[in-house]
Amino acid sequence: MAKKTIITVATTGAWPKKENNPNVPLTPEEIAEDVYECWKAGAAIAHLHMRDDAGNGSMDVARFRETVKLLRTNHPDCDIILNMTTSGALVANDDQRKIHLKELRPEMGTFDCGTMNWMHTAVFENSPKFLETLGKDMQEWGVKPEVECFDPGMIGNAAYYVKKGVLKAPVHFQFCMGCANGIPGSLKNLLFMKETLDSLCPGSTWSCFGVGHCAMEILYAALALGGHIRVGMEDNVMYSKGVLAESNTQLVARAARVIREYGNEVATPDEAREILGLKK
Ligand code: ZN
Repeated sequence: MAKKTIITVATTGAWPKKENNPNVPLTPEEIAEDVYECWKAGAAIAHLHMRDDAGNGSMDVARFRETVKLLRTNHPDCDIILNMTTSGALVANDDQRKIHLKELRPEMGTFDCGTMNWMHTAVFENSPKFLETLGKDMQEWGVKPEVECFDPGMIGNAAYYVKKGVLKAPVHFQFCMGCANGIPGSLKNLLFMKETLDSLCPGSTWSCFGVGHCAMEILYAALALGGHIRVGMEDNVMYSKGVLAESNTQLVARAARVIREYGNEVATPDEAREILGLKK
């Protein structure tokens, strides 16, 4: 039987604006419609961020709620897995970063497994206290963490949290490659991340993406190494060099084509649930 590959779409993120690409969805209406179209194109998981009226990153629980409501009422056939950010857009406090998980209980949420400098301008802080509390809260709320690792040290940190009971094995990882101050995106570095994972957290599942120029190298390498894939305008507003993405759907459709050409199958949301051990 062909191996199933999960596509996650990261529609919006906290940073790209309409000036960067007019097609990036920002409002709850735009995001909900976009998620639906991406689901039809093959995405099994939607990674969600919200924006305020000015288009800046926001952790406003009302916006998360509105987006989910629009998606579920306008498109009741859409069974996509929701994965909500806890990044806080670098401004929210520790409580604001997770209140939407508690209230809305999405099937997944992000767990950024360490602190780093962000884009040469700010600190993306994920303190030990925040992570310990977040991991335990997510277990209590039934929200599966997607452990985002921007460098190999964060995999080591995750292994520590598994030992401490903050994270529960089998853990699902997202390798975020090619971000400023994180591990550069290359096939060799992805192989190193995967081998580090195999030795420190055996039995885990993993997905990855590359920001900017390394996007396609990482996408193809992920398939070859048996990982899952994330695409979307959070990570890349360009489709290829000098060409803006027309939509998130366009990026998902390309990923689905590559998966099929490789000889794998695109996982449906229910197949992804099985792979990740989620209860619907
Ligand atoms: Zn994100």
